[in-house]
Amino acid sequence: MSIADFVRIDGYKYVETHKHLEQGFILIAVEPINTALKCRRCDSQLESTHGRHRIRAKYLPLFNYDAFIVLWRRKGFCPSCKKIRSETIDFLSEESPHLTKAYETTIEELTEIAAVSRVAEFTGEDRSTIWRLDYRRLSRLKKNYKVPAVTKISVDEVYARKKAKEGETRNDRFLTIITDMKSRKVIWVTDTRRKSGLDQFYKHIGPEACARIQVVAQDQHEDYLKSTQEHCPNAKIVYDKFHVMKSFLEALNEARKLVIKMFDLKKVEKAKISGKFKYILSMRADRRTTGEQEKLNEVAKNNKIFLKLELIKESVLQIFKHQSAKEAEEQFDKTGKWIMEAGFPSLKGWFKHLEARWDMVAGYYDSPVTSALSEGVNNVIKTIKRRAYGYRNMDYFKMKIMQVCGLLNTNYVMAQANQESGT
Ligand SMILES: [Zn+2]
Repeated sequence: MSIADFVRIDGYKYVETHKHLEQGFILIAVEPINTALKCRRCDSQLESTHGRHRIRAKYLPLFNYDAFIVLWRRKGFCPSCKKIRSETIDFLSEESPHLTKAYETTIEELTEIAAVSRVAEFTGEDRSTIWRLDYRRLSRLKKNYKVPAVTKISVDEVYARKKAKEGETRNDRFLTIITDMKSRKVIWVTDTRRKSGLDQFYKHIGPEACARIQVVAQDQHEDYLKSTQEHCPNAKIVYDKFHVMKSFLEALNEARKLVIKMFDLKKVEKAKISGKFKYILSMRADRRTTGEQEKLNEVAKNNKIFLKLELIKESVLQIFKHQSAKEAEEQFDKTGKWIMEAGFPSLKGWFKHLEARWDMVAGYYDSPVTSALSEGVNNVIKTIKRRAYGYRNMDYFKMKIMQVCGLLNTNYVMAQANQESGT
């Protein structure tokens, strides 16, 4: 058995091997079986040869050595292009003549399980090559990807980028993430958190699939509400605990900021209710450490208003602990009275908005969905954003979310294709 037995390239035959074991690599020379050459641009037969140059393309590693295929690439006159062209070589990557397709596939498989930067480190290829391969692979998968049939979905917005493009509003800087609550997988990602973003998803899956959707858990974002009402005739919209708490905590934080402004606090006082205090205030009382509780008590001693905010927050948390919609509503109304007394506009706004749409909160009791996964997905997305390369490209970012948190992977897409062809 020789190294040649490990190297199989259609249309080429093995010539010889040059071992450079000290330097950690092996060169395997091959030559084409068929001597006819085709234009690399248009595939026409090249008419006459006009020189050749040696090329070297990385192949799959052999044992612990890097392996390269070397051969002469010929040039010839292309009657269609009316130019001298290089010949086409099928086993080379379309992205880079320094990579074979076989090796390219390995790199692509690695990008499915590791960040671009790690794959670059591991393979010694540069990041931009890995990024291009990953982007191309994801685009290819997405073309063949079909949204799975779903009945319960969660709709979330994720802040995608800081820098606005021209003519862009803040809304456009968010992505809309659609998650299947059953499998807990992200099934689609669209641009913007405007109505058009969610519309795009519903249009993509079509009216029949929309009619199958029974529950849509979402935050109190009016655009999402309108879109779901327009496209999903059988869907119940649920303001679930996760989304209600998220908007409440935002309103609570606005209230905290207002206290700083209103009372024109001294620097020392201001520091006490900034930074970490924001989290202490938003935490469930029974989850605080003794130190955290003491800090809150101390602040509350000087600013009685925080005692009120704390009571309101604990009361909001109670809403979802009740067993029936009726009890929850009583709790909600009680909380509302305190909110009105406290008088913070952000909290009042939050309460009134939900009061007018109480049905959707009550819907939680008929369809007790939990989209706590939204939080998980959110965190994963943050990690993706931090660790990887090229996320300024929004298409790539969207596909990467669908890959890491969802089903945009070879196994799923292949299984779908097989199902369709009935094999
Ligand atoms: Zn040509």
